[in-house]
Formats: sequence, structure tokens, C-alpha cells
Amino acid sequence: MSDALVVFLYALLTAIATGLGAIPFLFARTISERFVAYSGAIAAGLMLGASFGLVAEGTAYGSAQTVAGGLLGVVFILVTQGVLGERDSQDLVFEAARGEGARRMLLMVIVMTVHSFAEGVAVGVSFGGGVTLGAVITIAIAIHNIPEGVAISAVLRPQGVSVTRCAGWSVFSSLPQPLMAVPAFLFVETFRTALPYGLGFAAGAMVFMVLGELLPEAYDHGERAQVATLAAASAVAMVLFQQWL
Ligand SMILES: [Zn+2]
Repeated sequence: MSDALVVFLYALLTAIATGLGAIPFLFARTISERFVAYSGAIAAGLMLGASFGLVAEGTAYGSAQTVAGGLLGVVFILVTQGVLGERDSQDLVFEAARGEGARRMLLMVIVMTVHSFAEGVAVGVSFGGGVTLGAVITIAIAIHNIPEGVAISAVLRPQGVSVTRCAGWSVFSSLPQPLMAVPAFLFVETFRTALPYGLGFAAGAMVFMVLGELLPEAYDHGERAQVATLAAASAVAMVLFQQWL
């Protein structure tokens, strides 16, 4: 098997792992206001925690580039929000939802898919340092993808999207990982230079999505103290989880 194919298959595993994040939603039977609020708070916390990890990884390659990437990530969300908001949001349809719910789900899938590009590059670049290093980074990203699948499902499931389709969209959001890992592995030096920008971009986009979309929505539907506690606990859990990896 060629080396590039090995890298592709490893990175494909990370994408499939994301789908596991839908599993906890098999056990949530009702979709109440509180379910919407607390799912959103958990999604927000997991994304914040993941962003800390991305920034830490990015600064190892270059601090200024990571910050510049972060600003680009914020601009990206502002532009995407502008494009989605230009059409009357009532007309927007995604899965079973219309209007505001559809807009938020679409934004979530876009943000999480875009953030996977940088992680795919990280997988490819790490394989440039040898198969052992590549395998370790792949496993770390695969496991980190599972709570991200939880985050995506936590936004989609309250809108009535089935658990199977939540898993499908979770896997979809990670498909850039196998797609980017191969070119990053083949042209490792070029991609290594771009990596801190990409990691910063992913973190900036995710933090902005959390603060501008997920938390305001969660506060609208749930108790202030409970939303804040759940979001903070999820963020800390995600950071500890990444440390442990
Ligand atoms: Zn991630």
C-alpha cells in the first residue's frame, strides 16, 4: 500500500469516529426547551475547550500566525452569517427545520466542517514526521472528534433531526480530514507553514460561533446559572480530555 493511501485511511478513521458523538442522543427521548438549552450549553463548552487545544497547537508553530488566523476565522463567520442572513431567514430550509433553527444548524455544520480542514493538515504534517507520530496524532484527533460529534448532534437533534442523520452530519463535518491529510503529507513543508494560520482560523471561528450563536440561544431557553455551569464544565472537561491525550 502506498504511504499516501495509509495516511488517507488513518484520516478516514478520524472522520468516522465523529459519528459516534450522536450515540448519547439515542437515550434522550423528549426534546423540551431545557433539552435545547442544555444541549447548546454542552456544545458551546466542548467547542470552547477544543479551541483552547487548537490555539495551543497553533502557537507551537507560530504565535502571530495563529492570532492572524483567529481574526480571519471571525471575519469568515461574519461573512457567512451575512450571506445566510441576506436571504430572508424564513425561506431557509435545512433538514426538517425552517428559518432561524435552519440557519443555526447550517452555520454549525459549516463552522465544524471548516475547522476540520486545519486538523486534516495537522494529521498529514504529523505523518511527515514518521508513521508512529502520525498514528499518535490520528488517534488523538479521532478521540477529540467524538465530543465534537456530540456538539453537532446537540445543535441538530433539538431541531428534530434523527440520530442517524446527526451521525451522518457529524461524519460529514470531518471529511476534510482525510481529504486534507494526503496533500499535507505529500507537500509537508508548504503545509507546515500554513498550519498555524489554519489552526488559529479554526479556533477563531469556533469561539465566535459559541459566543454569538450557541450561548445566546442557550440563555434564551434555560436558566442562566445552569447554562453557564454546564458550558464551563464541558469546556474544562474537553481541555482535561485533550491534556490526557
Ligand atoms: Zn476539532
